[in-house]
Formats: sequence, C-alpha cells, structure tokens
Amino acid sequence: MTILPVIPTSPETPDAVFTRRRPAMPPRHLADLDLAGRRAAVAELGEPAFRAQQLSTHYFGRLVRDPAAMTDLPAASRAKLAGDLLPTLLTPQREMACDDGATRKTLWKLHDNALVESVLMGYPDRITACVSSQAGCGMACPFCATGQAGLTRNLSTAEIVDQVVYLAGVAASGAVTGSPPRLSRVVFMGMGEPLANYPRVIAAVRRLVAPAPEGLGLSQRHITVSTVGLVPAMRRLIAEELSVTLALSLHAPDDDLRDELVPVNQRWKVAEVLDAAFDYAAQTGRRISIEYALIRDVNDQPWRADLLGRLLHGKLAHVNLIPLNPTPGSKWDASPKPVEREFVRRLREAGVATTVRDTRGREIDGACGQLAASELTVVDAGGAVADAEVAR
Ligand code: SAH
Repeated sequence: MTILPVIPTSPETPDAVFTRRRPAMPPRHLADLDLAGRRAAVAELGEPAFRAQQLSTHYFGRLVRDPAAMTDLPAASRAKLAGDLLPTLLTPQREMACDDGATRKTLWKLHDNALVESVLMGYPDRITACVSSQAGCGMACPFCATGQAGLTRNLSTAEIVDQVVYLAGVAASGAVTGSPPRLSRVVFMGMGEPLANYPRVIAAVRRLVAPAPEGLGLSQRHITVSTVGLVPAMRRLIAEELSVTLALSLHAPDDDLRDELVPVNQRWKVAEVLDAAFDYAAQTGRRISIEYALIRDVNDQPWRADLLGRLLHGKLAHVNLIPLNPTPGSKWDASPKPVEREFVRRLREAGVATTVRDTRGREIDGACGQLAASELTVVDAGGAVADAEVAR
C-alpha cells in the first residue's frame, strides 16, 4: 500500500493533515472475527465461550443486528457483549426504491460521517446485493462518479459484511415483491475498488461463505468481486483458492484508450491484466466476466469489438456490456442501441458469450458509478474527504 502525500485543500495545521493521513477505522465488530476469534473475544470479556455461538446465531443465522432484540442473553452480558462486539457501524441516512420496489438503495453514514451505499436488486429467481468495499475510490476512472471524488478510506470487514446482513434481512422480510425471500448473490460493485482493500474484502468473502452461524452460508460462485485490474492482487486472489466469480472492468481492448478510461492501466497493461484474469479462470474453472461500459464514439467502434473478440476467443470469459450511465456533467453518453447491437453481434460472431447488463436503479442514482455521487459533494464541503491514500 502506498500512502501518497496529502495536499490540503484549505490551510490547516500539520497535525490536522497528519490525522487525515490515516483515517480512523471503526470499532471492532463480531463480523470482523471468525468463530475462534469471537470465542477468544467473548472469553476476554469474562463470558462463557458459548456466547460466541449465541451471538453468531442471532447475527448470521437470524440476521438480527440489534443487540436489544437478543433477548435470550442476560441483560448484563448483553450490554457487555454488545458494547464490545456489536457496535453500530452503519446508520441509515436514506432509503430509496424504484422498479416497483424491486430495486432499493440504502445510503449509510459510517462512524466518521463517511457515506457509502448498498443496492438490493430483486429478480424473479434471485435477489442480489451490490455492496461497497471502500468509502470513495482511488482509481479515478473518468466515467465513474465515485472515481471523481477520490478515496476517503477502506471499509472494515464488518462494515462490508453488515451491509450484506442488513440486505439479507430486508430480503427475508419479503419486502422485495416478486422475488424469493432470500438473498443469494453478492456483487462487490458498489463504491470502491475491492482489491485495493484486499485483506478486509477477502475476510468479508470468507464470512459470507462460511456456513451459519460462523457466516452467512452463501455460495462462493454467487459472489462476484469486480476489479479495475490490480494485477498483483489478482495473482494473490488466485493463491487464495477461493472460487468466487471475478469480474474485470476492461472497458477498452487497447492500451491507448484503456490508459485513459481505467488509469491503473498505465501500470498494468491490457495483456498483463487479461493474463492474470485467464489464470484465475484456469485455476478456478470459473468463467471470468469482462465488464465493458459502452461509451458513444469512445470505445464502441466495430474494430474495438473485433479486437476484443480476438483477445477473448477460446477463453473462459464472458462479456458483460454496460450501457454507460452518464455521470452529472460528463461529456460522455451511452452508445446508441444500433451501435450496441452491432458490438454484441461482432463479439458473438467471434464466439464470445456476451450479454448487456440491465440498467437497474437509474432513477435513484443506484446504478453503476452513481453511488453516493450527489451526497458526496456534501461530504466534500464538510471537509471529510481527503484523497490521502491510494492502495495498490
Ligand atoms: N472498482 C471495481 C468495482 C466498481 S463498479 C471495478 O471497477 O470493477 C462496478 C462496475 O461499474 C465497474 O465495471 C465500473 O467500471 C462500472 N461503472 C462505473 N461507472 C459507470 C458508469 N457511469 N456507467 C456504467 N458503468 C460504470
């Protein structure tokens, strides 16, 4: 991880700059720990070890996040355990729904007033949670609203897991009409670059897939980690021997354009990033998902479709085209439908499986790259955001 120098936007004392450099992480929470860690934490509080199992059953098994509702715990123990292992990490600021209640966005305030969002998307056969892994993002992709504001800080493991546990509770309440009442998929496609917050994101994945009551018991293949292509972290992921789905935000098949659209390409080029993705597919046997936001007259030319087709032909890969969701003030727009159709046709002709992503949540700024964009300007004005840290 490289800490870049902080450039203050207003006159400040050196102390203020120093404290900004390492943003305060939230207090420890049950979901930061595996079951053994929870037993140790409970023992340190002088409570019997079985309380770890009891708390875990409430939180992961029954999706109860509020200690006050854990009424089978004696009041004194409950206060002690709640204070140490169940601090409030996420405070809802705003909830919005669209698509007839099938898409719901929650804006959360964190302990340090940073804002992040999660989105719940219901389909006839499944419910998917889209979660944030960082407050803001340091990757600076010019078409993404989150990328414009810079990175505030990494989320803790529990801040990530708690988004999912909350959304699983919403799903279980039956509030997502027309969908089964069970959260089955999680995509790390909210705010942030998951692989820039590597250890915490991996620990969160382990919590999500551990069987209850240690974790949520989700299937690994139903979890998608999406990355701009941080090659060393992708290689590290291969070594984890997890079988989560890997999505690579490619957005251009050539270095000239990708250097601009995904600035981290200046460090790890298309060939190198695709190699790492193909190696991940070979190791896991799981098809990688190539994300490609189609931007009018920028990356939607037939020759780019053909080049992408050649790069992916015969590989364990699938292309997910995303109609660009223009960010406020952006000079870019989505490609016209006939251009999109031709792009799809050429990829399929090259033998590459291709789908076009639905554009859920646009009315509530819940779509890709829009998360917390309008609210972030408020945070900026309050001075809580500093582009202090770019994790590599
Ligand atoms: N940092 C990760 C996850 C973030 S967002 C990554 O880049 O993969 C998930 C996806 O939404 C990425 O593919 C991202 O490039 C895409 N995205 C961001 N802004 C978008 C926009 N305005 N329109 C369409 N897709 C966008």
